[in-house]
Amino acid sequence: MKNYKHIFFDLDRTLWDFDKNSHEAYQEIYEKYNLYQRGVSSFEAFTKSYLRHNDELWALYVEGKIEKSYLTWRRFEVTLLDFGIDDPELARQIGYEYITISPKKTNLFPNSIETLEYLQQLCSLHIITNGFEEVQFNKLRNAGLDKYFDKVITSEAAGCKKPENCIFNFALEKANALPTESLMIGDDIEVDIIGAQNVGMDTVFFNPNRIAHNGGIQFEIFDLIELKKLI
Ligand SMILES: [Mg+2]
Repeated sequence: MKNYKHIFFDLDRTLWDFDKNSHEAYQEIYEKYNLYQRGVSSFEAFTKSYLRHNDELWALYVEGKIEKSYLTWRRFEVTLLDFGIDDPELARQIGYEYITISPKKTNLFPNSIETLEYLQQLCSLHIITNGFEEVQFNKLRNAGLDKYFDKVITSEAAGCKKPENCIFNFALEKANALPTESLMIGDDIEVDIIGAQNVGMDTVFFNPNRIAHNGGIQFEIFDLIELKKLI
């Protein structure tokens, strides 16, 4: 690997353990709003339904077809409807509650801090994340990650989302970085890796669950600590 001046990290599912943190937040919501008593059959059924609707709505949001505010509560409204609960007001409350609770969770992938401590001695570190400005900044602050990053680029601030060239170019400009001296690290091949490659950045695919893929990957790691050997 060459000597990079800038390393750009994805946040969710790369440093911040999105699945573990979200699961904890769903659990709190499930209990606080007595969803079982209201007719939701089980916590597992609730999360399964929510994740399906969230994926569908998130895809529409990424395509620019729906607004952030709508996504925030609509995903809970349709989840509740799956259990015969027609209560838009409750969905709004839960939607707001979720984006309040979830960023307070602080589970990180193993060795995140040790790796960032090491890398920040070598080059400038930045974040490029598809997410809401306030939510992503709160996550970074609460998890004690903010001090490692020079620039934090959210899709909300950039006005476009990974894998579009636009957000990577926006991030490079903000960081005063050239693509040839920059490395992108992320867990999503389509969004992080191909997106960054399209603007000429080198890439590391973080694959903690060892999912199968078709190759075409420049570098791949299974644990963040491997970056200490690579870079
Ligand atoms: Mg990610």
